[in-house]
Amino acid sequence: MSFPTHRPRRLRRSEALRGFVRETRLSPAGFVYPMFACPGSGVRTEISSMPGIHQQSPDKIVEECREVAGLGIPAVILFGLPERKDETGSEAASPAGAVQRAVDAIRKAKLDLLVITDVCLCEYTSHGHCGVIAKGNASGEVANDASIALLAEAALSHARAGADIVAPSDMMDGRVAAIRAKLDANNFSDVAILSYAAKYCSAFYGPFREAAQSAPQFGDRRSYQMDPANAREALREVELDLEEGADIIMVKPALPYLDIVQRVRERFEVPVAAYNVSGEYAMVKAAARNGWIDEKRVVLEILTSIQRAGAGMILTYHAKDAARWLKAC
Ligand SMILES: [Zn+2]
Repeated sequence: MSFPTHRPRRLRRSEALRGFVRETRLSPAGFVYPMFACPGSGVRTEISSMPGIHQQSPDKIVEECREVAGLGIPAVILFGLPERKDETGSEAASPAGAVQRAVDAIRKAKLDLLVITDVCLCEYTSHGHCGVIAKGNASGEVANDASIALLAEAALSHARAGADIVAPSDMMDGRVAAIRAKLDANNFSDVAILSYAAKYCSAFYGPFREAAQSAPQFGDRRSYQMDPANAREALREVELDLEEGADIIMVKPALPYLDIVQRVRERFEVPVAAYNVSGEYAMVKAAARNGWIDEKRVVLEILTSIQRAGAGMILTYHAKDAARWLKAC
């Protein structure tokens, strides 16, 4: 039996009814706010393609973290910019690096905030790749096994600074195992790993590369990041990272890969995060500035869709705005 007995509109008649039967309840409790730490003090420079997002020195990071915590956002993820770049990205593991200093400063401020650190080499290498290039390799191929040793050193330096969670984003094979072993050998067995398990080679990272000054100087990242056409391969990447010891896994980007978020959520029992990346943010900001879309409605719809697809945590540059809007709802 269907119409006229069944009338789905009955439950859409009022906000009270709609709210009562709502399946997805978006909340800042799953938000992670990404931040860019740079050297120095008193530095706060807006990123032109990401309005509202800044490169900041550790002291300024702490100021904004206070605001983030006050909005009920539980976590931040930090990316770093080095003083100097070199072939091996050696500053990635420096205890005096911007990320390490920012983590330490957040810890000293005793903020009620989980601190996640991005672990990669691309912000630190002169060539802008996520790993090192083997000497004499004319084709510029990134050397996997040499890179994971350096990534593990970087992760250890973040743990020493006080990070709760380290998040490798490089897409080298075996990096989760290398990081887990390095942390455990140094008495950081309680530091968790959030692995960028299914990270696609995406054009949506464009604005981030300005923010992190990490555009590759030659070639591209197709030999390590995933082909956008592949879904089954994402499940395999997740499976391998879990076997290696990942505690939380991530799909990146979010919007063009909601099917992947859903498949990963259905297949695995671990917490799943999704990264609503810089290009997704920049498109919304640009359209909103032109008066072409209602920013608030669009952002809340996007974040709801990512959660509905299965992401328990959403890394998003909209986190502060969305938290404010949700509070006002
Ligand atoms: Zn990278």
